[in-house]
Amino acid sequence: MPEKLAPAEDPASVRLHETARPVPLETIVGTTAMHEGRALDENVYAIEIPPLFLDGEQRLLDASKVAQQMSESGSTVEAGDILYVTQDGFIAIEPDASQKPLLGTEYSLEVTYAIRHLAPDQKTGIPRALTQDRFVAAVRHTHPYDAPTSAIDLATILREDGEPGANMFTYVVTDKATTLIFRTADTPQLSNEDATRRMERMHKIDRQLMVALIEQGNIEEASQIPYRMLELLVHHYKLRMFQCPRGETVAQYIQPRVRTIP
Ligand SMILES: [Zn+2]
Repeated sequence: MPEKLAPAEDPASVRLHETARPVPLETIVGTTAMHEGRALDENVYAIEIPPLFLDGEQRLLDASKVAQQMSESGSTVEAGDILYVTQDGFIAIEPDASQKPLLGTEYSLEVTYAIRHLAPDQKTGIPRALTQDRFVAAVRHTHPYDAPTSAIDLATILREDGEPGANMFTYVVTDKATTLIFRTADTPQLSNEDATRRMERMHKIDRQLMVALIEQGNIEEASQIPYRMLELLVHHYKLRMFQCPRGETVAQYIQPRVRTIP
């Protein structure tokens, strides 16, 4: 249940929510994805999802359902697309509405980034904004059965700026909720190998815990493991999570609870 993602908030953060003016998602993408650190402004507490993006969310949900019905193995299907920002600040969504979205079974969405590299990387001292012709903002994708954002999903936002396809935020859509998770100025920058290795390990732990709890008959507790894992990772990597019911236009900041995995 996505509502279980919403923890008890401290009064200070609730007050901030009430007064926070939603910042349009396209503004955040256009001003952040191409710059060093790809960090969300710490003053953002509410994000407005524009109609164009909401239409895209529905398109992906529809595509995943159609593909799932046609799947002979009966396996769950994720549908996705890539949000880019071009060097001159325009947002490009690929594949666009006229083409088939990316499709894959759970955790197997294959993504190839269409980026032209103009300079080796920003370690040469060249501003990041000048190193590529376009920058990946997010791989937006659906999750079957309302599963929360996974450790695997977070690997690409933990990549360091110079890595190909270093994303700015995760964008997960289910029938019930839209969840956006951003980097902050305090989020580490990891090599591709390190980010992947760490997140695959967390994913494995997540699965092992679930299997163990299911075997013990603790089905309810097992179902909570992916949510606990996500809270832990958001807290540990100093990420910022926003969420709203699917189709609503303003995603609110959700403060992670500090706790440990059992
Ligand atoms: Zn995912």
